[in-house]
Amino acid sequence: MTTSGERRRVSFREFQFRVWFGHASTISGCRRTQPPPTCSVIDCSSRERTPHRRRAPPNLPKATRMASHDDSCPFCQIAKGQSDTEILQSDEELVCFRDVKPAAEHHYLVIPRTYIGNCDDLRAQHIPMVERMAEMGRGVLVKNKVRDPKDIRLGFHVPPFCSVPHLHLHALAPASKMSELTQRKYGSVSHWFITVDDALTRLRTRGRIR
Ligand SMILES: [Zn+2]
Ligand SMILES: [Zn+2]
Repeated sequence: MTTSGERRRVSFREFQFRVWFGHASTISGCRRTQPPPTCSVIDCSSRERTPHRRRAPPNLPKATRMASHDDSCPFCQIAKGQSDTEILQSDEELVCFRDVKPAAEHHYLVIPRTYIGNCDDLRAQHIPMVERMAEMGRGVLVKNKVRDPKDIRLGFHVPPFCSVPHLHLHALAPASKMSELTQRKYGSVSHWFITVDDALTRLRTRGRIR
């Protein structure tokens, strides 16, 4: 049972996020009355709570929660070929496609086909997969003729600021040309974005991100 205190705390987090990320004007809007989104549900920068983001109650068995996630997740639909999203690269484990609201000249997402919620769910056993996610992200950037392969940014958003609850690696370039707003979301000044190199270091040294 959610207490009113918990509701206030969650609400304040969302308030912080919206102020930082330029969505303050939506704070007063009633989310429940907003129409379901269309293709923008896969906009990773959006914090609008949609049916696609709804999680099953946490007291359900994990298998049940995963099934519920799978039913409505836009990234699972992309991974299964149930979306018209253009797939830039894929293999039996990973899928790469464009972020619908690019925050840089090049902005791609790499997701695992198998559901993982977010970077906090990663453990040491996932290190090879995370390495392959980074490899695919770099590969797609190079394939799309990024001028300086070193001027890129690869990483994950840290909960609670993960808009789509399905692990996704952001691959952006050129990193040096990102706007101030983009820096706050994906840059080194963001407390809510961890580079894939830092994530791998933490997984290797302590077996988890946080
Ligand atoms: Zn999913
Ligand atoms: Zn993200």
